[in-house]
Amino acid sequence: MKKRVAIYGSTGSIGTQALEVIKEQSDIFQLEVLTAHSNADLLIAQAKEFKPNIVVISDETKYQKVNEALSPLHIKVYAGEKSLVEIAGSDTYDVLLAAIVGFAGLSSTMAAIENGKTVALANKETLVVAGDLVTSMVAQKGAKLLPVDSEHSAIFQCLLGEQNNQIEKVILTASGGPFLGKKTNFLINVKKDHALQHPNWSMGEKITIDSASLMNKGLEMIEAKWLFGLRNEQIEVIVHPQSIVHSMVQFVDGSLKAQMGLPDMKLPIQYALAYPGRVPNTHKRVEFKNYPSLTFEVADFKTFRNLALAKEAMIKGGNMPCVLNAANEIVVEAFLKNKMGFLEMSDVIEACLEKISFIAKPSLHDYMECNTESRNLATSLIKK
Ligand code: NAD
Ligand code: MG
Repeated sequence: MKKRVAIYGSTGSIGTQALEVIKEQSDIFQLEVLTAHSNADLLIAQAKEFKPNIVVISDETKYQKVNEALSPLHIKVYAGEKSLVEIAGSDTYDVLLAAIVGFAGLSSTMAAIENGKTVALANKETLVVAGDLVTSMVAQKGAKLLPVDSEHSAIFQCLLGEQNNQIEKVILTASGGPFLGKKTNFLINVKKDHALQHPNWSMGEKITIDSASLMNKGLEMIEAKWLFGLRNEQIEVIVHPQSIVHSMVQFVDGSLKAQMGLPDMKLPIQYALAYPGRVPNTHKRVEFKNYPSLTFEVADFKTFRNLALAKEAMIKGGNMPCVLNAANEIVVEAFLKNKMGFLEMSDVIEACLEKISFIAKPSLHDYMECNTESRNLATSLIKK
């Protein structure tokens, strides 16, 4: 029996790489569901090639176009966020790859978890926004959450066979992004085109900007806290510009385990989809002659204020990571439209964290409201 896969966010960077994995491993995976937001042409092309049973376009204005193209192939076409949630809550698939970007991925990911399914999680924002609710629902519903984020996949792999052993800390590696070593006087003038040039990874625009500002690593600290049940002080960040060591776990005896590989998301995607098995592939391997030195340096929390702000939000807890995430989504969008400077992004996020009231134990409704409030506040601060 092949594993039936649903790819949420199939037109994105993770989604398209997941389709490559499924194509390479067509003897074990069968594509059941494809979803995209608005890129109807690519979604149609993907559906024609992979012939899933179900396709969802969340932008309802594109429904007719997608339906006309795919219904002759007996592919069921749906539209809107409601359909994303309904299908995530159905039994048509075995594993759902959550690869929608941002807060928009929360509702469908939660629906899959509520449904007791296995979720291969790329959408880190889900855990940043509502990690407490999501992880307790995973336990309650017997769902499985398998990390796709390369750092978290590394930690997950390091922890295999260590169930009864205590972790001292986890060390998340960061490439440092395109502005590694730069200081405030340089960052003040950087523009979108430069920030989008990541040295090691090719990713969607939002996470690429997050990587340049180190917000990505901040979000990943919060993601790690919830995925692995860690205390704040057990989570460390270290800069490793070659992106070969994907992260490490240090145990109570001082032993450090690391997982390594080339910076290629197809490996953690394949690992999560095929888990618990390892499947042979022909992807490029690390050749140490090309990496004569692997280097590590401390992260610059002072220059890259987003990293410090994310850590602060993690420590404060409650609704603060949700506030941080929402404000960040707004400022990244504005930066990508050349509406604000690189460093101004941190000013707006900091103001949102200061101004929005703290809620220690938010409900899902509180998170929804808080997300909207922080977005509105960030938007109003940018306009000024
Ligand atoms: P992307 O922008 O390339 O793709 C996003 C996908 O989400 C697209 O298919 C788009 O159609 C869909 N989408 C966007 N807005 C939506 C909405 N409102 N409703 C429904 N669907 C929507 O992003 P990406 O780089 O593939 O990243 C996806 C997620 O994976 C992010 O959470 C990111 O942090 C995480 N991630 C990505 C990488 C990477 O290498 N790209 C690595 C680790 C984690
Ligand atoms: Mg990552």
